[in-house]
Amino acid sequence: MTSVPQVRSQAGPPVLDVTDLSVHFSAGGRLLGRGRDVVRAVDGVSLRIGQGEVLGLVGESGSGKSTVGRAVAGLLRPTSGSISLGGREITRLSRSQMRPLRRDVHIVFQDPYSSLNPRMSIGAIVAEPLRQHGVARGRERDRQVDSMLAKVGLRAQLRDRYPHELSGGQRQRVGLARALVLRPRLFVADEPVSALDVSVQAAILNLLTDLQEEMGFSCLFIGHDLSVVEFISDRIAVMYLGKIVEATTRLRLFEQPQHPYTQALFSAAPLPDPPLQRGRVRIVLSGDLPSPLDPPSGCSFHTRCPVAVERCRSDEPALTEVTGPGHAVACHLVDEHGPPDVAAAVAAGTAGTKEDRVHDQA
Ligand code: SF4
Repeated sequence: MTSVPQVRSQAGPPVLDVTDLSVHFSAGGRLLGRGRDVVRAVDGVSLRIGQGEVLGLVGESGSGKSTVGRAVAGLLRPTSGSISLGGREITRLSRSQMRPLRRDVHIVFQDPYSSLNPRMSIGAIVAEPLRQHGVARGRERDRQVDSMLAKVGLRAQLRDRYPHELSGGQRQRVGLARALVLRPRLFVADEPVSALDVSVQAAILNLLTDLQEEMGFSCLFIGHDLSVVEFISDRIAVMYLGKIVEATTRLRLFEQPQHPYTQALFSAAPLPDPPLQRGRVRIVLSGDLPSPLDPPSGCSFHTRCPVAVERCRSDEPALTEVTGPGHAVACHLVDEHGPPDVAAAVAAGTAGTKEDRVHDQA
């Protein structure tokens, strides 16, 4: 399995190194190793994040991106594969072995309200990680809480308020303050702005960018909105049905999306330029995301891919750097000359969907 290539050079090992990660559940939702009725939420994902780097993980709901984030944050035990944090393998550590390492990785969730204890004041919520890890006491703890609240743009007077007294944007700022007060090496942001109004989204994204530059943490940023993920990421990995199907730098992905699924995601994202927007062909994918309980054979995207060929049904494409270093794609039709032009095929009417096209090839 190809690791998502590093972009920023660095002297030491990557902050996060995930190799061949799989997380499977029973159909009833419990984690399990093997057996029947297995939901393959994540299946063979490899990625790396360097010091101070932001990796965006993008995909539809059900693609497995949040499961990757939870496994990396130690909230789920992987079925197989390994996760290394700062060069230390953490996958098989016990709870007590994992406890001191928890200050190195923190996660923020989509819904800031449900992730904050309604019975705790804002000051107590932000102070909790300091207390748990015995980092500071008394006035020094108060000072660090006030300093962190200021960093996320909240007045110190809010420390005595409760989550229900704050707006959605303020609550997400509290979530950021709690996650960053211990200055973790890795910050996992799981759809942190999806539940917020657009104007508040922009403010939180700007804040996160400023904090990342100031504090230098590495970040796994998970989202379904390409424009949001693009704003903050150095590199982006695209997930489909539990696997990474494309990964490269932010710039390269936006200039040269290769995988047909990535091309479809881009075609659905609005362009700021109206004439360009009018001239663009929208690649509409047929059907819903298949069930991870019974993923399609071969390329898991073949049931929705507008340019699928017969081989796609039986052969699973490997994630490889076909078009050049630093750009990994999993598609049989991407070669050294580039990707299939899915929009052109759709516009020309030569892209039947799934069975039509596959039968034409047969
Ligand atoms: Fe998958 Fe085939 Fe479509 Fe490539 S062309 S994305 S291998 S179905």
